[in-house]
Amino acid sequence: MPLPFDCRDGVLHVEDVALPAIAAAVGTPAYVYSTAALRTSARAFRAGLASVPRKQLAFAVKANPNLAVLKLLAAEGYGADIVSAGEMLHARAAGMPAESIVFSGVGKSRRELAAALDAGIGQFNLELEEEGVVLAAMAAARGLRAPAVLRVNPDVDAGTHAKISTGRKQNKFGVALDDAAAIYARLAGRDGLDLRGIAIHIGSQLSDLAPLEAAYARVGELVARLRAAEHTITHVDLGGGLGLSYRPGEQMPSPAAYGAMVARVTRGWDVTLLFEPGRFIAGDSGVLLTEVLWVKPGAVDPYVIVDAAMNDLARPALYDAFHDFVAVRPSGQRMTANIAGPVCESGDTFAMGREIDAVAAGDLAVFRTAGAYGATMASTYNCRALVPEVLVDGGRFAVVADRIAPEAMLAAQHIPHWMAEVEAAPRKAALRPATGRALGAAHRPRSRRSASSGRLGS
Ligand SMILES: *Cc1c(COP(=O)(O)O)cnc(C)c1O
Repeated sequence: MPLPFDCRDGVLHVEDVALPAIAAAVGTPAYVYSTAALRTSARAFRAGLASVPRKQLAFAVKANPNLAVLKLLAAEGYGADIVSAGEMLHARAAGMPAESIVFSGVGKSRRELAAALDAGIGQFNLELEEEGVVLAAMAAARGLRAPAVLRVNPDVDAGTHAKISTGRKQNKFGVALDDAAAIYARLAGRDGLDLRGIAIHIGSQLSDLAPLEAAYARVGELVARLRAAEHTITHVDLGGGLGLSYRPGEQMPSPAAYGAMVARVTRGWDVTLLFEPGRFIAGDSGVLLTEVLWVKPGAVDPYVIVDAAMNDLARPALYDAFHDFVAVRPSGQRMTANIAGPVCESGDTFAMGREIDAVAAGDLAVFRTAGAYGATMASTYNCRALVPEVLVDGGRFAVVADRIAPEAMLAAQHIPHWMAEVEAAPRKAALRPATGRALGAAHRPRSRRSASSGRLGS
């Protein structure tokens, strides 16, 4: 079977669609996802866990909340790991059943907890004791028992970038392992709460299974201690984090190796295991398609200025992340260059001194492995359009998220009425014989409300 991203007749394709066809139809920059690649990784992750008897798979929506992507993963039997009510909205709109939704995140608002309770989601992952107290009260008031697990912070160094490391004791996530048993005991008896286990998530882009194994082993000890204290533990959520190879030739743990480790460490736990993969499922299923605008001489190497920028793909600026850059019509020639976008920040640089396919102005190229934490982190910084997303399936493709043009963003902005009045006053005055009275009337606030907002604003 051909690879989902492959050169055919000298042109990079996504499945059976040549990327220049997408650039012509949709413009650049644009994210392009492969249905086949998404299915392949979703199935590979599940297959890796074949020896785990009772499991639930919840795609970490934050990695790629595109509706079509979620719908595809729902069809593969994935639920959702959400971190906001907005992500719940997306997961439900994609047809994911409420029971298959797990709500993680250190800052769930009361409004979000209420919305999730009312929707009947499958599990709340509590990040602190007070959250459990509040959730229990809210559920009891509704005559419900909220299914919940307690997230612990195992204090292990996941060996990944500091900004995507979540399981060290100084991180904001979970309750300290040492406090977990006492908090669990205080929450377990509450009306409105069906506290049923433990959750963990130590970080993302993990290239080594050892920290995960150490963290899971600590969870195993905690589960044993909780059971010794007569608590019923039926669910353990092992989080996400499995890394992906971003650099050509980079070695990463396979889902099979991950699954074998999980099976070994969790043997005898006798629980339903939850998994929350994000990056592994979506990362390698998408590219960011871009056009070279200019090739500009630099102090050392030339700058390849592309029309994608840090507002479209933030990972290099945020985490010094590496995204492979390849030409859509590679000539076979190579060049050493810096790759940068148009945004007015030096941080808007994708690579320095990198050997890449030789490109010239007008050429198309892609940043690979951009399907996770790509479009979802996009912004409109520099009043740039919000980048569109395209899904390919075999020989067909469709825009699955529109390009939001600056005109639409402008239409969502408003000039406060008092500024409009100030602006209008001289014009009005110019149209009529200028009198002090007319100007004075124009400056007077229209209502009490505008008068008080004027005070607030000063
Ligand atoms: C981000 C996140 C995930 C997904 O992490 P990946 O590295 O993308 O697999 C899973 N669970 C929680 C709680 C998260 O915050």
